[in-house]
Amino acid sequence: MIIKPRIRGFICTTAHPTGCAAHVAQQIEHVRQQGDLSGQPGAPKSVLVLGCSGGYGLASRVVASFGCGAATLGVSLEKPPSGNKTATAGYYNNAAFDQAAAAQGRYAKTLDGDAFSDEMKARVISEIRDSLGSIDMLVYSLASPVRQHPSTGELHRSVIKPLGEALQIKSVNVDRGEVMEVDLEPATPDETAATVAVMGGEDWEMWVSALKEAGVLGDGFRTVAFTYIGTELTWPIYWEGTLGKAKEDLDRAAAAISGELADLSGGARVAVLKAVVTQAMSAIPVVPLYASLLFRVMKDAGVHEDPIAHIQRMFATQLCGDGAMRLDDEGRIRMDDLEMADPVQDTVRERWQEVSTENLAELADLEGFREDFLKIFGFGIDGVDYDVDVDHTLGHNIG
Ligand code: NAD
Repeated sequence: MIIKPRIRGFICTTAHPTGCAAHVAQQIEHVRQQGDLSGQPGAPKSVLVLGCSGGYGLASRVVASFGCGAATLGVSLEKPPSGNKTATAGYYNNAAFDQAAAAQGRYAKTLDGDAFSDEMKARVISEIRDSLGSIDMLVYSLASPVRQHPSTGELHRSVIKPLGEALQIKSVNVDRGEVMEVDLEPATPDETAATVAVMGGEDWEMWVSALKEAGVLGDGFRTVAFTYIGTELTWPIYWEGTLGKAKEDLDRAAAAISGELADLSGGARVAVLKAVVTQAMSAIPVVPLYASLLFRVMKDAGVHEDPIAHIQRMFATQLCGDGAMRLDDEGRIRMDDLEMADPVQDTVRERWQEVSTENLAELADLEGFREDFLKIFGFGIDGVDYDVDVDHTLGHNIG
């Protein structure tokens, strides 16, 4: 069939198999061009990626496999095609990734299901035992609106809200290109606790404990989880809001996990990443306006990175090699140095005050934001003919 984007709010309900495959291929090509990391000290050999099907998780998997030559086991929650409905983009991404890795003779296995469940932890452990023996790195890149707690069975739903006072703040309607003020109600204590339960560090800790108990962590095992901090422009909705509370909990978990890994000479770190367009990020109010302004400024300054470029730099400069790591006082890896640089932030801050519907196209890069959004679903990828009939059942049976 001919597949076109069908956008509903901040989600696209269709995905293009050929486009997704081409997008994965572009990421692989980018990593190849940056050079081989496999000989570098610290280059991982067997990597588990939780949240492997898109955004920063997929980028991590591509760098681990095609940059470091690692075997990769991935976990994600995606939907296969059914009837005349396309699969989710992540499903096609996984299929394309697994195929490309297999073509290199490199181990890649993708398991589909709920990473928060005990069942998935057991499946992963059994797969590691059967195929890898042990792993030396876990990338924790889940972003989810819900988590069913494995012990209590309770379904926690995260919310993206400010804390304390109601908030009136600038935002953009990405579809219409309209800048406006939005009113956001503050979260209740229960909503905040639920958000920490979904996006905080407990599940990360549970994963490491389960893997350690099963004896499948190699000596020197390291794990990294991702956070965003940003500036005062987005703090009210992010770092000082419900999501920030969850991310604070990741910092707590990193310290606890590092303690647990001491006897393996391993450790856990939180990495602060830059704002990029992903499915998870598009759902956050205010951030698309900030990101559109940021992209314009970073592109003009020649320092913009997309997820694959950003993660490639993280592996090359922070996770591999023997250079000193760029850590903050909390021991987090700071990958947001280019985003946070004064000349970038000074201009973004100025433009934030000035930006309106009328001057949006001049001050911001909403077009680039929209293009990146479509690319997530396999649309607008160079070299793909979208008028060609495609088999939307393409891909393989995952997991
Ligand atoms: P994304 O939406 O692109 O990917 C989320 C992944 O989680 C997908 O692979 C999805 O299948 C998987 N997933 C969701 N629920 C699952 C479940 N129950 N079981 C198994 N898999 C599940 O998200 P992203 O933006 O790449 O976010 C990854 C991490 O990076 C998050 O911690 C996010 O906060 C962080 N981060 C994102 C940005 C950004 O700008 N996008 C910036 C800094 C940090």
